[in-house]
Amino acid sequence: MLANPQRLLSRGIGKLGTRPVTPAWLLQNDGPQEWLIERAMGAYLGLAVGDALGATVEFMLPREIQVQYGVHDRLRGGGWLRLRPGQVTDDTTMALALGDAILAAGEVDAMAAARAFDAWLRSKPVDVGNTVRRGILHFRATGQPWVAEQPLAAGNGACMRTLPVALATLGRDEATVRRACRAQTWVTHRNPLSDAATECVVLLVQAALAGASSRELLLGPVQALLKAHPEFRSRGRRRENPSGYIVETLQAVFQALFDTDNFQDCLIDVVNRGGDADTTGAIIGMIAGALYGVSAIPQSWQRTLDQHIRQRCQVQAVALIQLSGAKGWSTGS
Ligand code: MG
Ligand code: MG
Repeated sequence: MLANPQRLLSRGIGKLGTRPVTPAWLLQNDGPQEWLIERAMGAYLGLAVGDALGATVEFMLPREIQVQYGVHDRLRGGGWLRLRPGQVTDDTTMALALGDAILAAGEVDAMAAARAFDAWLRSKPVDVGNTVRRGILHFRATGQPWVAEQPLAAGNGACMRTLPVALATLGRDEATVRRACRAQTWVTHRNPLSDAATECVVLLVQAALAGASSRELLLGPVQALLKAHPEFRSRGRRRENPSGYIVETLQAVFQALFDTDNFQDCLIDVVNRGGDADTTGAIIGMIAGALYGVSAIPQSWQRTLDQHIRQRCQVQAVALIQLSGAKGWSTGS
């Protein structure tokens, strides 16, 4: 029988204190196969380090980054939000709020997500996107978890927080995965390009978790997105200074992901393009973390990352994979 994720969650925190959850610890505790945990933790810590790395240079131009830092490659904090080194922003904290809601509900549920985002906004987060704030205020005013369709609002704010859905629905059929994505995205963003991009990112993370190569990611979910929505094609142009428009965000993410062959280069490439760098960092971090695994994330980045956030990411990664019941689990007794 599978252990109860909530029990694992509390057991994990109680037993580990501030120490990181390691694959060895999980194996001793009827956890999933080591390779799956290695990748799921890579995805969650990748999201957080990408956010923390990119936030320093959010809204800067590549030229300005170059003048100020040469190459920006450390978790140094600062930026327009005046962050501590290793501090994360809304991209990571919204994902954690969503992950908690999924674990509490036992599934991806729109109302639970809306309530979690509402509580998140009340916690006075360091940064809140305009579309996100509007969506949450809509929920407060109406009690309805979903906003009306927004033909013109294709921001990246729903995509950046989608990782827990990828982990919780690992192994499900594609239609179920896509439905689960929309349950959370439509709380704030209800737009065909945002939907398609978010579902593509979730499918990329899931394929990487299952062991797909970088080339298989490109030929699979990415090609399918480009075929359905040619807007996402870069047409040979390098995407620098990507805005919060989901098309520009994913153009930068795809270029950096497929032009590099390791986690560190990939993250450094994307954040030094400036623009919405915490969010390109967060999105590429979750995909590259799933692709290359947690051991590929530089130790100095893992050490500098806010340690409370680090532990929440690790525990959620395990609990959400367990909730999915995905293959790769050692079923114990
Ligand atoms: Mg942010
Ligand atoms: Mg951002």
